[in-house]
Amino acid sequence: MIFDNIKKFIKENDLPLYRIAQVREAVYHKGVSSWEEAVNLPADLREKLKKNFKILSFDVITVQSSKLDLVFKALLRLNDGNRIETVLMKPGKTWSVCVSSQAGCPLGCAFCATGKMGFKRHLTDEEISDQVLFWYQFLRKHNLGERVSNIVFMGMGEPLLNYVNVVKAIETLSCADYLNIGQRHISVSTSGIADKFFNLAQDLPQVNLALSLHNADDEERTRLMPVNRKYNLETVKEKLEEYIARTGREVFIEYTVIEGENNSPAHVRKLGKWINSIKDNYLLHVNLIACNPAVGKAVATDESTVKKFASALKAMNINVSIRKSLGSDISAACGQLAAKEKNKK
Ligand code: SAH
Ligand code: SF4
Repeated sequence: MIFDNIKKFIKENDLPLYRIAQVREAVYHKGVSSWEEAVNLPADLREKLKKNFKILSFDVITVQSSKLDLVFKALLRLNDGNRIETVLMKPGKTWSVCVSSQAGCPLGCAFCATGKMGFKRHLTDEEISDQVLFWYQFLRKHNLGERVSNIVFMGMGEPLLNYVNVVKAIETLSCADYLNIGQRHISVSTSGIADKFFNLAQDLPQVNLALSLHNADDEERTRLMPVNRKYNLETVKEKLEEYIARTGREVFIEYTVIEGENNSPAHVRKLGKWINSIKDNYLLHVNLIACNPAVGKAVATDESTVKKFASALKAMNINVSIRKSLGSDISAACGQLAAKEKNKK
């Protein structure tokens, strides 16, 4: 929902202005998922709101839960029939939401299920922020905990290709009047749309930036990620340096380890060299992710392969951690979101 529309409605209908705070309380504190549940409002107002506003801008088709770990995945139907997926997970003590920024993705990375389905359309800022509002309602309804603590733009789509709506959604999500999620707890992951890095530094300097690299050789990276043709390693490096100079923030380099594809000693050396060539590279932190089975060459990579890769990078004085990717049993892990029919129960 866009809360400004409710404010306008209350003003235009000459309702008492304290109703605005009451609606806000019901939606963003109580986490009601229908106007009927907003019992702090008079019945006639609940009725009016029901006629005029949907709390969520989409319908929830299914929610699946992982048996292996604390992960939930929801399949959503947008107003025009397009479908997207969003994930709630508890990798540690707090809840994180993985949001989608587009229905599908135009960039077609060789290892990603979202890329395989092609591009449908950009999501509106409302459709993006509502994914988090939905999971907030879900946590409340199932007594799973108080709140969503972190948001990662690692769902479907390339967030920096939908820049304006992503920025608007982040502003809404971090607004103290609504869900109040600190911008330092929000991360944007990009395949390297380098000409938007500086915009992000200016508009949202507190938000974390994660760059999906996956290969430090131009030719090979282009094969895995066709976007490298437009923004090659040199361009990405240059724009990353500008970003770091402006924000002084740590940047995460995402590297999905794909057995036999990007994990040889030569790959480690190239990656290390690329990172060490970047100004202020002490601010770079490599996150290694085991490849999840998705499409094409994406087959599961075992943990020992990832650990070996990590040790080799450490030996080159590079900050590195291994990121656990959760929810693979319900196809909710990195690169597995596709919103296919078969997810319907
Ligand atoms: N489009 C953005 C954000 C969404 S993808 C991006 O590419 O960064 C989120 C992360 O999942 C990216 O780092 C992406 O490279 C990674 N990913 C895609 N397919 C994967 C797979 N099969 N296994 C593991 N990670 C994958
Ligand atoms: Fe798009 Fe990211 Fe998937 Fe590449 S990895 S196809 S950029 S969603």
